[in-house]
Amino acid sequence: MTPSSALAFSLLFDPWIPVLRRDGQARRIGIREALLDSGSVRQIAASNPMDNVALVRFLLAVLIWCKPNLSEHDCQHLDGAVGVPEEWLAKLSEHEPAFNLLGDAARFYQDASLRGKEPRPIADLLAEFPGADSINHMRHVVHDGSYGLCPACCVLGMLRLSVWAPANRFYPASVNPGSAAYAIAERDNLLLTLLANLPQVTATTGLAPWLTNTPPESPDAVANLAWRPRRMWLNAAHKEGPCANCGRFGVLLASLCNADGWPTRTGEGRTKKFWDADPHLLTDGEPVSLPGLAASVASHSSRFWRAAYRLRGGQAAKVVAIGPVVNKFVFQDATSVSIPSASGRTRADLSGECSDKLRSLLRRVTPNPGRQHPEIHAALVLMTPHAEARVRALLDEPDSAGTDAEFLNDIYQPLVEQVVACTACGSPLRRRAARNKALALLSQCVRGLADKAAQPPVSADASGATPAKPKRGRKTKGQA
Ligand SMILES: [Zn+2]
Repeated sequence: MTPSSALAFSLLFDPWIPVLRRDGQARRIGIREALLDSGSVRQIAASNPMDNVALVRFLLAVLIWCKPNLSEHDCQHLDGAVGVPEEWLAKLSEHEPAFNLLGDAARFYQDASLRGKEPRPIADLLAEFPGADSINHMRHVVHDGSYGLCPACCVLGMLRLSVWAPANRFYPASVNPGSAAYAIAERDNLLLTLLANLPQVTATTGLAPWLTNTPPESPDAVANLAWRPRRMWLNAAHKEGPCANCGRFGVLLASLCNADGWPTRTGEGRTKKFWDADPHLLTDGEPVSLPGLAASVASHSSRFWRAAYRLRGGQAAKVVAIGPVVNKFVFQDATSVSIPSASGRTRADLSGECSDKLRSLLRRVTPNPGRQHPEIHAALVLMTPHAEARVRALLDEPDSAGTDAEFLNDIYQPLVEQVVACTACGSPLRRRAARNKALALLSQCVRGLADKAAQPPVSADASGATPAKPKRGRKTKGQA
């Protein structure tokens, strides 16, 4: 391999997008193949769920840029097609050099004015790698240039910044805050998935983020989907080896020059910075985010999926909600949950209400119900992830038979029995009495909730009451 060919990498043709094909093969492919053959691709299959969102959004940006006026008729025409028609992608051929990652000419998402500036470790691109001087990580990487990332992994890191960029006073967040969460509809193949996630496009400027380093005055959907919160320049290591991220052997990039890029924009009439027309962003007045790592497992297992379900549940296509756990400038975790497809909003709300009542209900079974009983709280927290998974599974059943009361009993009876079994004290007789009392109280609680849900809603006008503010997710404290 000659140095010049080793340092050529085209996003259009070289393999970098990790996909799972419908024939079961896991491969990396370039942009052209991803679009032209998208009917044969089951899904984008990056190991980090954040990349799956970033790649769908980037491919949408490329598709909209190539074919701005995608009509309803065009979309119907594509149902069952092998991929995007080649004639739609004329702009890709026209602007082929804009998709070169390396080389001396203009580079993809890079700003030549940063060339020669003080370099940073290439690991800055991927949140999985520790920062320069952090030691509190599972894996400590020595930033002495002894390792590098392959071009494909570098592109993944660069595009992830378009969706999630950590922010501080030196670096802006991306088009949405770094802690934002997204919901992506997943269909049978990549082509249908792209069509299911298309944003409402009013007008495009044609000046896509890969054609200019200048922040757009009035960004269109393409610019928003492929935002550039960082200016950067990749430095090649001029050596080959295994990529520190994916392990593939090839040319390595060892460092990059990095600076603040396009500033996050605020919407009209509000101070929060996010793209309010974002088709994938989970917003509830403001962007939804995951609980911090210090929150309990009960909070983690319930709050995010319930918020996502309230906002995007009950859709025909499978919807996956993905978001990171962010602490200031550090991405600590990323999670992906399937949102139940059934429109069982009432049952989801009922299960939340029932779950909230369990702690006080179980305290009433003890000889001293006025006390806090941290052991009951701990047991409930421990068992909540399983109960929440059961709620999601039952909501996902297309024809779940039975009444609301049966649905609630099915989930919470075993949970109540387990909590009593591990917290009740005294003789076997006392324990059995505690169990029976707890089940009787649960049955009473479930009946009350089911009866309340069965009553016709009282309109706000008739009662003169103001409508209750929708609950924003489930709260951490007392959550079980
Ligand atoms: Zn790699």
